[in-house]
Amino acid sequence: MQRILITDFDGTLCQNEFYQLVSERILPADTPNYWSQFVRGELSHLAVLQAYFSAIRAEEDTVLALLKEMKLEPRFEELGKKLVEQGWSIIVASAGCDWYIRKLLEPLEVPLTLHTNHGRWRGGKHGLEMTPPLESPFYSAEYGIDKAAIVADALQTADGGRVVFAGDGLTDVAGMLLLSSSFRFARRDCAGELQRRGESFQPFDRWAEVALSLLENA
Ligand SMILES: [Mg+2]
Repeated sequence: MQRILITDFDGTLCQNEFYQLVSERILPADTPNYWSQFVRGELSHLAVLQAYFSAIRAEEDTVLALLKEMKLEPRFEELGKKLVEQGWSIIVASAGCDWYIRKLLEPLEVPLTLHTNHGRWRGGKHGLEMTPPLESPFYSAEYGIDKAAIVADALQTADGGRVVFAGDGLTDVAGMLLLSSSFRFARRDCAGELQRRGESFQPFDRWAEVALSLLENA
């Protein structure tokens, strides 16, 4: 029986979110508040991130320097490899994009599957170009990637084995609801929304807590 850990990236495998660092630190002050347009239902989540990333006018090196501030879990390499040794498959599911995710994850060589949007650095008047993965079986017009569909697919693949999902955002809630409470690991907005709905979950602050709990309950 398979064991599958699905994890969000921004705010989950990393303490901080790329889009938030970009908007706080490097976007021009006159950049429109696209997030409020998303909250009002005028823009999709995908369109909001595309708008923020393409508004970047900084040099690529300045943006790359932000990646450290995302605070990738320092024990990810160690604990990710241990999980894989114990038979877990790791799936990273993100409504962000692969341009920054790959830069952070690939050097660590933890075996994993990544489902996310495409990203390409263009610079100049184009900033970071994000495009949805139209070829993905998990493509979603709203987010680029449909995390609930990834969880549903993992449940089929695992065929009665364990499927765990760790996330921190509102885009993670629908996927959480497909699992029983002991397999939902949530923080921040995701935890708040589950609480508001009267749904139980396992709270965490650092991703290492999720990994250690899975390793202890092998
Ligand atoms: Mg997140």
